[in-house]
Amino acid sequence: MTTELLDSLNEPQQQAVLYEGKALLLLAGAGSGKTRALTHRVAHLIHRRDVPPWRIMAVTFTNKAAAEMRERLEALLGQEKLPWVATFHASCVRILRQEIEHLGYGRDFTIYDDQDQLRLLRSLLKERKIPEKDLKPRALASFIDSAKNRGLTPQACARQQMDDPGLIELYRLYQQRLKQGNALDFGDLLLLTVQLFEEVDEVRRRWQERFAHLLIDEFQDTNRVQYRLIQLLSGPGTHLCVVGDDDQSIYRWRGAEVSNILGFDRDYATTCIVRLEQNYRSTRTILDAATAVVEKNSDRRDKKLWTDNPSGQPIHLETSADDLDEARFVATEISRLQRQGQALRDIAVFYRTNAQSRVLEEALRSQRLPYAMFGGVKFYARQEVKDALCYLRALVNPADSMAVQRIVNTPSRGIGAATLGKIAELQAQAGGFLPACRMALESDLLGAAPARRIKAFVAMMDDFSKRMERLPYPQLMAEILQETGYAPILQEEAQQALTTDSREVAKGRLANLEQLLAGMEEHASAAGSLQDYLEQVALMTDLDQHDPSIERVTLMTLHSAKGLEYPIVFITGMEEGLFPHSRSANGVEDLDEERRLCYVGMTRAMTRLYLSHARRRRVYGTWQFNSPSRFLADIPVHLLAGQQNESVVRTSKPQSTTSHNLAALADLVAPEEAEVSAQAVESRSTEPTRQSSPVAVSRADDGGLRLGARVRHLKFGPGVVRRLEGSGDKRKVTVYFNSVGTKKLLLKFAGLIPG
Ligand code: ATP
Ligand code: MG
Repeated sequence: MTTELLDSLNEPQQQAVLYEGKALLLLAGAGSGKTRALTHRVAHLIHRRDVPPWRIMAVTFTNKAAAEMRERLEALLGQEKLPWVATFHASCVRILRQEIEHLGYGRDFTIYDDQDQLRLLRSLLKERKIPEKDLKPRALASFIDSAKNRGLTPQACARQQMDDPGLIELYRLYQQRLKQGNALDFGDLLLLTVQLFEEVDEVRRRWQERFAHLLIDEFQDTNRVQYRLIQLLSGPGTHLCVVGDDDQSIYRWRGAEVSNILGFDRDYATTCIVRLEQNYRSTRTILDAATAVVEKNSDRRDKKLWTDNPSGQPIHLETSADDLDEARFVATEISRLQRQGQALRDIAVFYRTNAQSRVLEEALRSQRLPYAMFGGVKFYARQEVKDALCYLRALVNPADSMAVQRIVNTPSRGIGAATLGKIAELQAQAGGFLPACRMALESDLLGAAPARRIKAFVAMMDDFSKRMERLPYPQLMAEILQETGYAPILQEEAQQALTTDSREVAKGRLANLEQLLAGMEEHASAAGSLQDYLEQVALMTDLDQHDPSIERVTLMTLHSAKGLEYPIVFITGMEEGLFPHSRSANGVEDLDEERRLCYVGMTRAMTRLYLSHARRRRVYGTWQFNSPSRFLADIPVHLLAGQQNESVVRTSKPQSTTSHNLAALADLVAPEEAEVSAQAVESRSTEPTRQSSPVAVSRADDGGLRLGARVRHLKFGPGVVRRLEGSGDKRKVTVYFNSVGTKKLLLKFAGLIPG
């Protein structure tokens, strides 16, 4: 078995598997078999070196990668027990479930997702009477996340004196509120584990002794707090093996530090560095093209990568008139491939921003091509699913205020905002929202009718809580959905809806609840507890529900594609301002990261790669005219084929992205937010504003206003000019405001000042 295991590896891979020293760095390009070497090393340790599986921890970037690794190990190990194979977050949860009491939290803690986080921040800002226009909850969330990624508690932030004291104070309050609710957000999972190991020597030593081997994949994307965690977990007897590719570092914007991998041999002096140079994944054409793109990066360690694979077909370059055309091309081509016998699960379509997916989805649907999309609204974040889960969360952890507040009036029990406000004020004193309900009842704080309703709610929760002891939790969930009226109300809506649309929505929501119950049954039948289930759900990303055996096309952002491979890949929207994203106009480092992202995308492809760009694209309801991405110009012409590629290559000289008004717009809103608001704006505006050209609209009488200019309005705050039309007194300006979306104003009265 073991010799077979080594036979399937090349020499440097074998070296990585057999290495017995303390620190090993496997640094190599895409598709060179790093992950394969890591998996085989784990199998070797267990089989040949008799390391007990529980003394090995392998960390990967996504749950999907972890599941795949577990599967491969099962195949390699047979009957042996599996080691820990998990993401950083999941590993931390396991440690914290055992140890968190040292930090003053209870073991039953809840994990808050981004939605819960925002809700909590919103209520905190409201309490502090800070209007959202002065500080957006999202901005505060990203401040807090970034501090946590750097491993900084509020106290540490204060000591550093680098951030705004007001923000730090809010961060401190937020942490306090989480602790009261016995809840942790994602960032806390890592931060608190680090804090635990730093503060409690005995615990750190115990865990250091436990793990003889730590193996970390995709190491280039670790951030400071993750790196610190690895350092704290590595004791004198620990063997560390880290694997990665600096060319694939694409999470700098989320705090990843590529210096972790590049400086690894400085921190671990006796590091053995193994390099893999043979790519097994892609055709020579694809590999050469991807290398040509990433080679342009200014600050890069030179790396060799070659392949024995055939050249294969040239890369197809497609120029489309607009985004709809591009989507049609993708769908038609996939249809054609399908007719030729190509399996749909072997095809992936990537894009830079989530907002691009909508037209692609429509085109695939119109050709009746099944697809699975990742990165939209997560299943577990959908309203009805989240509502249902919050009932269970509230029962498991009554201190979980976010959960209780979400369900106290869902479905409606006629409890008003004023009543909820009064109860909320008691929360800190009572230790959560549910205890605050009891306190409010005892202290006769509420009027007769509200008190009656709150009492009924509390009694209902007590009753469910009793049932939790004896019922399997899927059964409990079903009873909750029925008895609270949640499911019956949806059923009624589905039957009596006046429009087809609302009927479909209600039906879809019921189907989601059914799917939720089915998932619970499955989990419970494998002897999983409710606590395990909630934990798994909290850490789940969309990617995890991906079942590769199902016949459908995969749609995802370039960021989620990392580590994966597909025989056929489409990368769409290869345009200046979109990819590279306008955000990268800020500096060389951001542009380098976009280039690496392009390299990651291209190297996912095994046999066939399609790159496409559109001459114009509808963004935020207006047409953007983007020139082809500079990355296309970096690919040697002889590797390309397809429509009009020569003109593309000739015209796509690198140019400043600031000429696109998209750049100005995206500056104002963070990309994720921009994606959401883009959809919101589109659905709000009845008729998409079209114009022939984004330039040459500045006039003397516009007071210097031009398309893309930033402006400020007395009431609506900052915005960006989207359109100018009409003349004289009737001249109108359309502005996209952060606060309220799109507004059309008479220029004369608009009172806009340059922002
Ligand atoms: P990435 O940088 O994208 O994460 P990677 O370096 O981790 O890539 P793997 O995913 O481990 O690469 O391997 C890429 C492909 O090459 C896989 O399909 C893998 O099975 C195959 N492969 C790796 N090593 C070998 C080998 N020695 N012989 C044959 N195939 C191999
Ligand atoms: Mg890999």
